[in-house]
Amino acid sequence: MSVALTLPKYSIGVGDRFAHQAKAQLEACIKAATHGVDVIPVWNKSNREHLIVGSGPAESRAAADEAVKALGWSKAYFVDADHINLSTVDRYIHPCDFFTIDVADLIGQSCDSETLRAFVKRHEELQRKLEIAGLDQGSGIDRDFVTGVATKYLAAVKEAGRIYRRIEEKKGKGRFIAEVSMDETDSPQTPMELLIILAAIADEGMAVQTIAPKFTGRFNKGVDYVGDLARFTEEFSNDIAVISFAIRQYGLPGNVKLSVHSGSDKFSIYGPIHRAIKAWDVGVHLKTAGTTWLEELIGLAEGGGMGLDLAKEIYAEAYAHRAELCSPYAAVIDIDPARLPAPDVVARWSSDQFVSALRHDPKSPAYNPSLRQLLHVGFKVAAKMGPRYLDLVAAMESTIAKNVTENLFDRHIKPVFMGA
Ligand SMILES: [Zn+2]
Repeated sequence: MSVALTLPKYSIGVGDRFAHQAKAQLEACIKAATHGVDVIPVWNKSNREHLIVGSGPAESRAAADEAVKALGWSKAYFVDADHINLSTVDRYIHPCDFFTIDVADLIGQSCDSETLRAFVKRHEELQRKLEIAGLDQGSGIDRDFVTGVATKYLAAVKEAGRIYRRIEEKKGKGRFIAEVSMDETDSPQTPMELLIILAAIADEGMAVQTIAPKFTGRFNKGVDYVGDLARFTEEFSNDIAVISFAIRQYGLPGNVKLSVHSGSDKFSIYGPIHRAIKAWDVGVHLKTAGTTWLEELIGLAEGGGMGLDLAKEIYAEAYAHRAELCSPYAAVIDIDPARLPAPDVVARWSSDQFVSALRHDPKSPAYNPSLRQLLHVGFKVAAKMGPRYLDLVAAMESTIAKNVTENLFDRHIKPVFMGA
């Protein structure tokens, strides 16, 4: 009998747009391990980003395997088919062993009334006050409430079940990690909604190990969290409470944990996340993604000369095509056009000026979140440059790698997993 693939307690999603920084990213996990904390790397790249860059999941797999071999990493690691659905999953099945099943598009779609009725009937336990340690449920948890939530989410969960079974059919039972993501939608899910979603997931026979709800507040790409911190803190802890309950009640895997998407640089919630996972003694998956590409740009600019020139050229192109670059990410960016410097101004910047405008140091007066977000979605510009970009990245590897490792370890792993 083979043992099911298990996602360890602490894991970090590390995106790598151009598949050149896997070693530098892994170095950050190695640093954590030398401090006695195991943080497992998961290389994630969504279908959308693969299409923009013109790459495929096999390249992410090759880069991950090569880094692991080169650095002698003997702990677990995974390659994530990030935000896939039924129409995009197939080419990920072989190279990936982690699947982020994205069914946010189906939220709010109706499912047939028989399925709905059967769900409500099966889950009478949800229609009265539950004893959930650490959670004040509030009132109004009744049949109508459960029917309302099921009406909104059941079609999405059913679709997740279809995707899950398709993966399982090809990879085999227990041979992959499954996550269900509902973060790319308009309104956040409350903890009670999450509980009902988990019940529906269990009904579908999905052994999910992580779940990515949409949390309260804004999770813009590559910049800090914007929202009510006290409310986030309470919601995050309540989500953990309902997950623990659902594990026992519905027989979900014992290690199910929250996955925080667009987790890069959410500095102000890192403290609350760390305290909550410590208090509950549970894990978390922090998905950071595009900021490694920004560290590549920082490294190029810091290196000066041709690197700085190329970074400026990328900014000028991104600025010229800002509407088109931003539109696929409209829900997750918030750029103030008035704060974007004109390219001819940037053209005169020193290495220091470019780096300090881009680097996410909230205390630095030179830090410019609008410029950072534009460049965050501007990786398409570098992708179009092809070898001209990649060759320079390779030539300036040491400056870049230092930035990639430090960023991941100091600004993400330390505060979330080590509480420092
Ligand atoms: Zn996501």
